[in-house]
Amino acid sequence: MKILVLNTGSSSVKYRLFDGVETLAKGLIERIGEQGGEVPDHAAALQRVMSSVDLEGLGAVGHRVVHGGAEFAGPTVITDEVVATIERLVPLAPLHNPAALTGISVARKLLPDVPQVAVFDTAFHQTIPPEGVAYAIDADLADRWQIRRYGFHGTSHAYVARQTAELLGLSPDDAKVITLHLGNGASACAVDGGRSVATSMGMSPLAGLVMGTRSGDLDPTVIFHLHRVAGLPVDEIERSLTRYGGLQGLTGDNDMRTVQRRRDEGDPAATLAFDLYCRRIKEYVGSYLAVLGGADAITFTAGVGENAPAVRAASLAGLSALGVTIDEARNQRGDRIISPENARVAVCVVPTDEELEIAQQVTAEL
Ligand code: ADP
Repeated sequence: MKILVLNTGSSSVKYRLFDGVETLAKGLIERIGEQGGEVPDHAAALQRVMSSVDLEGLGAVGHRVVHGGAEFAGPTVITDEVVATIERLVPLAPLHNPAALTGISVARKLLPDVPQVAVFDTAFHQTIPPEGVAYAIDADLADRWQIRRYGFHGTSHAYVARQTAELLGLSPDDAKVITLHLGNGASACAVDGGRSVATSMGMSPLAGLVMGTRSGDLDPTVIFHLHRVAGLPVDEIERSLTRYGGLQGLTGDNDMRTVQRRRDEGDPAATLAFDLYCRRIKEYVGSYLAVLGGADAITFTAGVGENAPAVRAASLAGLSALGVTIDEARNQRGDRIISPENARVAVCVVPTDEELEIAQQVTAEL
């Protein structure tokens, strides 16, 4: 069956047409509505997608939606009620959910007879137990304002954990895997038997690991201090932590390739950024080994995870007492398994494929 996967962002539409696991077409329309952009609006962008691919025999459209709140724990066939719920969740993802809603609305109009399915970045983490999602704040406030951990990158963590189990010949239903999605955004996840039991992103994708432009974890007092003592307005603090934090904030470059090159040249800011980035990963790996009571595998994925052997080596250095070691020759070659033969914990590199995972979830849901 053919599935069209749409990832509608605020100024872009990414699409991929599948037949089973095979990709028939894919593309990206960018700078929607911008001066000199390809198309004036999302409707025109999706119209162009629909007319450029062969939709004969299309079984469904799968929409990537960033925030499903506490409402959605899996892929969901889109109805008016589902749209209303995603709208209600906009305050939790003010940049992302409105774009997805536009994509859904236009696609439903253009393809009224084709089922449309929403796949949420947060859904996979709905299996995390209450003590892994609650923040220790006033319970009434938390309840009233939907304040809790949701976690993101769920489709990637789910896909990569299952691929890891297959790679190692383990049953996905009882494998314990720590997945490290290190792209522009980055997050860690502890997966026990195919279920997420802990993840590093929180109420928003700002928490956890150091990222390209996001700070990751920090003491909330930093925000009060920047507001009260430094006099910065809240919006500016938010921008500072989300767009000018992480590698960008520490070095002025958000790309790990540039940071690594500068570090190799002896640049102190790049050295600190690299060390901080890797140490944060190590802290989460240690924490998740504890949460899981030991792991079968630790898997790196996404742009940095798949392509940066130095990050993989530094993040897991010194963990041999916990059964975690890397074979440097395998690591440099970029083998799928980079731990030594018979290691207690396998260390793997598995390319992620969020669109394929969405297509498969949509197919399973129909
Ligand atoms: P996204 O999160 O946008 O999907 P990716 O998963 O493609 O992003 O990751 C993008 C990041 O991967 C880049 O910003 C870059 O820092 C990093 N990256 C890509 N190739 C390499 C490489 N060879 N070495 C180090 N980092 C890399």
